[in-house]
Amino acid sequence: MPPTRSDPRDLDATLDALRAQGHRVTAARRAVIHALLSADHDMTTGDVAAAIESTQPDTHLSTVYRTLESLEEAGIVAHVHAAHGGVAYQLADRTQQHAECDVCGLTIELPSDMLAGVARQLRAKHDFELDTRHFPLLGRCSSCRGTEGSAPHRHIRG
Ligand SMILES: [Zn+2]
Ligand SMILES: [Zn+2]
Repeated sequence: MPPTRSDPRDLDATLDALRAQGHRVTAARRAVIHALLSADHDMTTGDVAAAIESTQPDTHLSTVYRTLESLEEAGIVAHVHAAHGGVAYQLADRTQQHAECDVCGLTIELPSDMLAGVARQLRAKHDFELDTRHFPLLGRCSSCRGTEGSAPHRHIRG
């Protein structure tokens, strides 16, 4: 089991934040927030559905979608993109910048201040506010560099 980065107060505090904005705390919302708090990684909709199945076995995948959407509208949850399609969810205040290998999909969590200098320059020179967390930085991991599989990737449309 990977260590969780959650404690019970996080759930209460997050539910309080939701209530403070006038949103109802439904069983599905509580279960989804609990799942995100308990995981040590960003979760796809399928991950969330699998995680809450034991406590909310009747929750349909479409309910998980709707719940994640409504929590995102409330600013509690944010989505991030994988390099080649796919979206994963995280609590808004826990999103992180990632680097992702273009070939094998390996992702590395980066310290939040790593792109601070770039963000500062974009703001100063271009009046541009960088969103560092929404997409990963793309590149090649050590095992994918210089191998036969390192040809430029192809986009698979599905
Ligand atoms: Zn997006
Ligand atoms: Zn790789």
